[in-house]
Amino acid sequence: MSTRKKIIVVGGGISGLSAAHKLVELREERGLSVDITLLEAGPRVGGVISTRYEDGFIIEEGPDSFITTKPAALQLCSRIGLGDSIIPTNQHNRRTYILLDGKLLPLPDGFLLLAPTRFWPFIKSPVFSLAGKLRMIMEVVIPRRAADEDESLGSFVRRRFGAEALERVAQPLIGGIYASDPEKLSVKATMPRFLEMERQSGSVIRALLREQRASNQSGAEGSGARYGLIVSLRSGMQSLVDGLASRLPEGAVKLGTRVKSVEMASGRWIVSLDEGEGMEADGLIIAAPSFVASRLLEGLDSELSNDLGGIEYASSAVVNFGFNKSDIKQPLDGFGIVVPAVEKRAIIACSFSSVKFEGRAPEGKHLIRCFLGGALNPGVCDMDERDLSESAFNELRYILGGSFDPLFSYVSRYPSSMPQYMVGHLDLISEINGRVSEHSGLELAGNYFDGVGTPDCIRTGETAAENLLDYLFSG
Ligand SMILES: Cc1cc2nc3c(=O)[nH]c(=O)nc-3n(C[C@H](O)[C@H](O)[C@H](O)COP(=O)(O)OP(=O)(O)OC[C@H]3O[C@@H](n4cnc5c(N)ncnc54)[C@H](O)[C@@H]3O)c2cc1C
Repeated sequence: MSTRKKIIVVGGGISGLSAAHKLVELREERGLSVDITLLEAGPRVGGVISTRYEDGFIIEEGPDSFITTKPAALQLCSRIGLGDSIIPTNQHNRRTYILLDGKLLPLPDGFLLLAPTRFWPFIKSPVFSLAGKLRMIMEVVIPRRAADEDESLGSFVRRRFGAEALERVAQPLIGGIYASDPEKLSVKATMPRFLEMERQSGSVIRALLREQRASNQSGAEGSGARYGLIVSLRSGMQSLVDGLASRLPEGAVKLGTRVKSVEMASGRWIVSLDEGEGMEADGLIIAAPSFVASRLLEGLDSELSNDLGGIEYASSAVVNFGFNKSDIKQPLDGFGIVVPAVEKRAIIACSFSSVKFEGRAPEGKHLIRCFLGGALNPGVCDMDERDLSESAFNELRYILGGSFDPLFSYVSRYPSSMPQYMVGHLDLISEINGRVSEHSGLELAGNYFDGVGTPDCIRTGETAAENLLDYLFSG
């Protein structure tokens, strides 16, 4: 019989919640004797995931969806009884617009993040100049790069597809996902698939075409993101947070509990809090942003703390607007708009939420959300809510034309929320993992490892839980 163990999870965002939930699942599965406590600094769990329910609108303040190609989120939803609540993106209007010279132009059908996969829609598209198109098509004959070291997304795209492809699509689409400057973003850490295509086939376009022919897959429709591979939850992302929280043991979650530092004494973790008495544990999962983990671990391991502190973050803000459909003259026949940095606008993207997913707005209304900030637009979180809302609304009026007013606007600010995967990021992460393995009973989880999306966070949380239990109950 093993002795009773205690595990503390720091941080109640999706990474920490998934870790705590996995601990509960494995405890039951393996009949383990373990107490689980989740410490969350804020007044609620969920971190950046939060859904507001207002007058029939389902308003995502943070993430609005997740991809299914990384299965952790989908699998978790099924395990907690949300399988039937998964909803696909709308079958219609699966297209992305790009703002160029103040005009909305649809990305050509079959255009996948940075490469065209259908000839005629690409050739006929007004998004690229003739010279830009020719340069992109030349990708099929551009020799592969011999060197294996990491490079920036900017360098990769310019090298293979030319500057126009970078400015007009790769920067807003891929840079947008990571809220990053493409000149600093690591292509190895963010788009390894394209590097692999170059390495194996000598051309991204050729590899994509081959993939499409072979699989005839559903995700190839539309343009921009592969919308067939994106899903959400009928009642919003909040239901994932609520579902997880409801499965944790009563009293396991301590809200308003900010961890100040952690150290090791006589083989146990000593967790000190900002307020109140500290706690002890046999195992510790830190599922807070890397700059927080860096501070917490400062006294334990300065090298690890330095490495964690070396990961930069960008801030962002989301402004949700409700409208009467009849007030907007421009047809909202796409899932949203991306805005290249060269356009020098205040928003970086906007989603037509009520077009993208069923049930986001009541009959006769539209829900639109605007994104501001990212590494190329620092300072958004210093703006007050009114300025952010006005700034986003002015942009919507400029882009959609006409004169209309919102029914409401809700501003959500996310300071230092998006880790920046700079060139060399994977080496840094491998160093961090190496240092963590030196500390028995310590695991880290979060969006700064090898993926910023919700499924990545769930995977890191669940892996941390599994590793920790394996360690604590081995032999
Ligand atoms: C605006 C926005 C939109 C996004 N959209 C999408 C999307 O559509 N799809 C997608 O897949 N991903 C999206 N992402 C990315 C993804 O949602 C996030 O990477 C993920 O939710 C982060 O979860 P986390 O638990 O790692 O961190 P967080 O959500 O930041 O949670 C960390 C938690 O730790 C707590 N904490 C911090 N310090 C301490 C401390 N000292 N003691 C105790 N607790 C502490 C915080 O209060 C917080 O609750 C989006 C992100 C943002 C910001």
